Amino acid sequence: MADCIFCKIAAKGIPAKIVREDADTVAFEDLNPQAPTHVLVIPRKHLATAGDLGPEDEALVGKLLRAGAEIATQRGIAASGWRAVLNTNRDAGQSVFHIHLHVLGGRPMGWPPG
Ligand code: AMP
Repeated sequence: MADCIFCKIAAKGIPAKIVREDADTVAFEDLNPQAPTHVLVIPRKHLATAGDLGPEDEALVGKLLRAGAEIATQRGIAASGWRAVLNTNRDAGQSVFHIHLHVLGGRPMGWPPG
């Protein structure tokens, strides 16, 4: 999508610290990290919110989560713990309307989230 910042990152049209990529997903460091590890995993396919996922995207969602788990292992936080967050729409605080999985870890986290 032409004016989507995360599409531009996936296409390497604007810079980001990319830490992992494959045919379907790209992962990069969050610009404003909320934990020692804070990586965003996005699909290359533009989908604005989780509400836009169709049956054809079921495998893609699995790939996002598996990429997150791989990153957690690489960062050494798989055993200590990490959190996957997918904010959807206003009340959840979604600010970028291209689906992204936050991979957060490296410190203890509270529950419930704010
Ligand atoms: P959300 O509030 O769930 O939509 O999360 C959007 C996230 O994208 C925030 O954590 C931002 O810090 C992050 N973000 C926004 N622009 C960029 C960018 N250009 N590069 C990396 N992270 C970004």
